Amino acid sequence: MKEQNYRLSICLGLLCLVLNHTLLRAESRPNILFIMSDDHANKAISAYDDSLVNTPNIDRLANEGALFENAFVTNAICGPSRAVILTGKHSHLNGMKTNRDEFDGSQVTFPKLLRHNNYQTAVIGKWHLKTNPTGFDYWKILPGQGHYYNPDMKDEKGTATHPGYVTDVITDESISWLKQRDSEKPFFLMVHHKAPHRNWMPNLKYLNRFEGHEFQVPENFHDAYTGRKSLGKQQLTISKHMDIQYDLKVPCETCVPAEVNRRAEGAMRKALDRMTSEQLEQWEEGYRSEYQSFETLEKSDRAFDEWKLQRYLEDYLRCIISVDESVGALLQFLDEEGLSENTLVIYTSDQGFFLGEHGIFDKRYMYEESLRTPLLMRLPGKIDSETIVSELVQNLDFASTFLDFSGVAIPDDFQGKSLKPLIEGDTSEKWRESIYYHFSEEGWGVDSHFGVRTSDFKLIHFYSDTFQWELYDLRNDPQEMHNLITDPNYADVLADLKRQLIELQTQYQDSVVLHE
Ligand code: CA
Repeated sequence: MKEQNYRLSICLGLLCLVLNHTLLRAESRPNILFIMSDDHANKAISAYDDSLVNTPNIDRLANEGALFENAFVTNAICGPSRAVILTGKHSHLNGMKTNRDEFDGSQVTFPKLLRHNNYQTAVIGKWHLKTNPTGFDYWKILPGQGHYYNPDMKDEKGTATHPGYVTDVITDESISWLKQRDSEKPFFLMVHHKAPHRNWMPNLKYLNRFEGHEFQVPENFHDAYTGRKSLGKQQLTISKHMDIQYDLKVPCETCVPAEVNRRAEGAMRKALDRMTSEQLEQWEEGYRSEYQSFETLEKSDRAFDEWKLQRYLEDYLRCIISVDESVGALLQFLDEEGLSENTLVIYTSDQGFFLGEHGIFDKRYMYEESLRTPLLMRLPGKIDSETIVSELVQNLDFASTFLDFSGVAIPDDFQGKSLKPLIEGDTSEKWRESIYYHFSEEGWGVDSHFGVRTSDFKLIHFYSDTFQWELYDLRNDPQEMHNLITDPNYADVLADLKRQLIELQTQYQDSVVLHE
């Protein structure tokens, strides 16, 4: 009997040890705070480039963690990018190839796997996948694109209007959720901002920011699109396609009739109708000097196009200031709660954006401005401060990365690679040499296209209309102005890129026709 008791106590002791070890492991798993904005160009983050705006809070992540110099998306458009992030699969496999598609929420996503492994999961802010979120203990989202002022937010109980500016509302909702979470479990929270998506409506308190400031005009702002047929037929130019009222906030009375776009006018009216009379007054007062400068402008020359660019950048960057403040508030909350040490914080965007390069705004293209996306990560003790990662990474890799940091097995059919070894400086495994891109949402005059990018070169094939191939030497032509596709000096480079393109399409199971 004595011996049996003795054995039992040894067994119980061992069980306790095992349980303790398991609990310790659970506790040491990091929380994950994933902050994503919409259409945030690297150029508008001072850790990447300080020529346009100062973003001290986002920069803090670079100073205290890692900045990825070469982070790219697989498909530069909102909904599809989000689906790639959730599923770790390219658009043709997750089914969300364009913004017109609906996301199939029954498929495996990494938040579901985290939740299954005892993480508390939540998403707050822009969702843009049409179907309701799945895999989250809590969700509260903007219906569709959402609104900048007094936005509606939808959760499982219904939809309600939230007074205030959208970026602040999303931040406050996120902090509220963090405050009421179950602190026994690690958390995974996605904070998804609407800003700085078109039509770039800033917080009213920042309407005078940058006034009188002259931003540098990109060297290729007046691009004539020589040798690049697809770029030449898009409808995303600042000179011809930016709307005076909707985009540049000049009231209709001062527009010449040809400039009035009824659809844009309606959208603007809808946005302004959400404001209180006090907010509207502040809005009109804030844009008064812009109206006045518009009225005195000569409307037919390059100076008018450059005026539009300045106006556009002012509002875009005003939106960025609020996004940066949001990051500051969230980091401060982590500091105050003692959570900073064990929380992996990520800042990224659903893709980049054109800020006047090639004379355009918007995204879609595989050109550098929209292909690139900001990516910064902080996890004290695991990621050294001021780490620079220069390998080619993609948003396709996020799912595997977060599962890896959480000690959750990565499914075999996830197509990305964990970025953890790169961040930790583990070079034992050879990293990829090229990335694959495929955009298939036709519209705004942009052809469907796919391509391959290495560290030095890029090959793009526009396959829905112009059937054009484009080849760029990024070392000598980072602005992608010279299509070298017929240059005999690049015949070997071209052959090698085509080989890599076919290999990537095979690896990622994308079946598309290569036209000669
Ligand atoms: Ca976007």
